[in-house]
Amino acid sequence: MKVRVDLDKCVGHGRCYVLAPDVFGDDEHGRCVLKCEAPPPELEAQARLGEENCPEGAIQVMADDAS
Ligand code: SF4
Repeated sequence: MKVRVDLDKCVGHGRCYVLAPDVFGDDEHGRCVLKCEAPPPELEAQARLGEENCPEGAIQVMADDAS
């Protein structure tokens, strides 16, 4: 699994790093910082939770073989 965050879309709601703190963190402005670009299996559920709950659609989770 790969995770991407489009920082042009991120406005700093903070839902991702509250719900999935092992995959997402925050910078000094409250915007998302990706902690883990390639989550191991035990963090995949957190990555998906972040994607599903970002109101801006800024988080994208892809299979490993996606480009
Ligand atoms: S939930 Fe979305 S908009 Fe909010 S901080 Fe995370 S990536 Fe940014």
